[in-house]
Amino acid sequence: MPLFLNRLRVFILGKLLYRAAGADRTTKRKGIFMKAKVDESLCCGCGPCEEICPKVFKIINGISIPQVDVVPPELEESCREAMENCPTNAISLEE
Ligand code: SF4
Repeated sequence: MPLFLNRLRVFILGKLLYRAAGADRTTKRKGIFMKAKVDESLCCGCGPCEEICPKVFKIINGISIPQVDVVPPELEESCREAMENCPTNAISLEE
């Protein structure tokens, strides 16, 4: 087998093994991670964000404070849900 084809085969096998090992493609999309931000001037501390996604949002002194720098991939969907349910549109997500 020509060297080029052998290298291509190794490359493809490596990719397949990487995915089979559980590498999460939603973690990194084109090198960009999800970050959650709360505009404190808009937040009224009403709490749906904390109810929907308590691992990311926590109400402290009447303001929702994101608890993580980068949203874990398994929480991205609930973060979006929290943003959609924020009555003052205080939550923004950077992806
Ligand atoms: S839902 Fe919006 S306004 Fe209410 S606490 Fe969360 S960020 Fe603040």
